[in-house]
Amino acid sequence: MRRLEGKVALVTGGARGIGLAIARALRSEGAVPVIADINEQGAREALAGLDAPDGMALSVDVADQASVTSLVDAIVARHGRLDILVNNAGIGGNTPFLDITAEVWNRTIAINLTGAFFVAQACARVMSTQRSGKIVNIASLSGQRGGHGRGAYGAAKAGLELLTKVMAVELAEFGINVNNIAPGAIETEMAKFAHDAATRAAYNYLIPMTRYGTPEEIADAAVFLCSEEARYVHGHTLNVDGGFREAGLMFRSKAAPSA
Ligand code: NAP
Repeated sequence: MRRLEGKVALVTGGARGIGLAIARALRSEGAVPVIADINEQGAREALAGLDAPDGMALSVDVADQASVTSLVDAIVARHGRLDILVNNAGIGGNTPFLDITAEVWNRTIAINLTGAFFVAQACARVMSTQRSGKIVNIASLSGQRGGHGRGAYGAAKAGLELLTKVMAVELAEFGINVNNIAPGAIETEMAKFAHDAATRAAYNYLIPMTRYGTPEEIADAAVFLCSEEARYVHGHTLNVDGGFREAGLMFRSKAAPSA
């Protein structure tokens, strides 16, 4: 028996990267995927690869509340319900603190924090009427630890992690289960943009498993948190980071790869 049979599952930013891997994994467990992305063509192509005749590919700008409302309305109009949200859409960032402009700051917060809030609230309103639902927010290790260039990005993700806790407290009574995944360094287009050679070498040194993670490794964690097996896991942040957050002093028997 597949674990998510017939569950209507929205994945924002699902056209590529971590979101696409999550949509694929949810589909393989029987969910009906809704891929929503600012890149509508990409969302359509992603859905086409999922063998999901009941699925949907929709355009959304998560930073635009009207766009988010239209998205959720369209899902409810088609399926009559919404069971799962994976709140994944986001943009990367690698700007030294002294160079962050108001434009960079505002755009990062608008998409990665305010946008995630818009989507979570709109979905939770539907789920609250159903008295059931699963929400997984995709935050980041960069919201937990200080890192070069992660001023705006890290602040947004730290805010999302705290928002997850508040949502868990307030939404439990509606039967909505809320958790957070904090990926470490994951090999995606975003990482290619945000991670220069020095960043990659630093991560490979600091991660006990000495490598970047894959989108599929995040997707496996997301499936768990969306499943019945995780019903008593609530308000939790699951780090999927090769041990980065927990690591302290490390002696290596051989040099870590540099890239
Ligand atoms: P990605 O490859 O850049 O994919 C993100 C997707 O979101 C893209 O399709 C992008 O469209 C879309 N998107 C961007 N802005 C949007 C908006 N305003 N509304 C709707 N969709 C939008 O990123 P990823 O690496 O898979 O990251 C996915 C999530 O994981 C993000 O929240 C990210 O912060 C988080 N994360 C990633 C890493 C990592 O190492 N990769 C680590 C920690 C956390 P466009 O391509 O057209 O912009």
